[in-house]
Amino acid sequence: MKKIGLTGGIGSGKSTVAQLLAHAGLPIIDADKIAREIVEPGQPVLRQLADTFGEDILNPDGTLNRALLAQRAFATPEATEKLNTITHPAIEQRTHELFTQAASEGHQWAVWDMPLLVDKGHHTAMDVVIVVDVESETRVQRLVTHRGLDETDARARINAQIDDDQRRAAADYIIDNNSTPEKLAPQVATILEKITGVHA
Ligand code: ADP
Repeated sequence: MKKIGLTGGIGSGKSTVAQLLAHAGLPIIDADKIAREIVEPGQPVLRQLADTFGEDILNPDGTLNRALLAQRAFATPEATEKLNTITHPAIEQRTHELFTQAASEGHQWAVWDMPLLVDKGHHTAMDVVIVVDVESETRVQRLVTHRGLDETDARARINAQIDDDQRRAAADYIIDNNSTPEKLAPQVATILEKITGVHA
């Protein structure tokens, strides 16, 4: 089974493209979802985080208080390193499991939906890289209008990611989402046909 890395800056429409790929029958391995799942109540990672960063990072209902964890875990590089040491192996294991599962189900291709694919250098491990590309001012406006972020926060999040030129340079295929969402489906279909040889 071959791997398609799907990425794009925050607000680029990557999740929208992932839905189109899922609709075409490809299994989607969602990095954000995995990162949330490994800290759900009952997961060993959540216990390790509470042991390391304090019991009060757990809400009364046992869920993770993300804001408090972030405050502590991003306070110093050492604390961030501890966070990564706890979470990364679990994330990697789950990602590997899901790729293995997709292969065992007979899929020829699986998609890794990963916002930081290029930022973290994982694109080199993919057979094909698709980048969803949108001009950054447009992304700011979409994040403010559709996702309720305030403008400063939207800009800060965009600036915290790798720059668009570097992301584009890693792409085998670029999906242009500067226009309307209706323009996405034909681009996805064309790319999928080129990659898999199958007309979606
Ligand atoms: P990402 O997963 O890359 O952060 P999303 O797919 O969530 O981005 O898209 C960000 C927001 O912009 C969503 O609310 C989405 O509905 C909206 N959006 C996506 N594509 C377009 C488009 N072409 N025009 C306008 N809004 C769009």
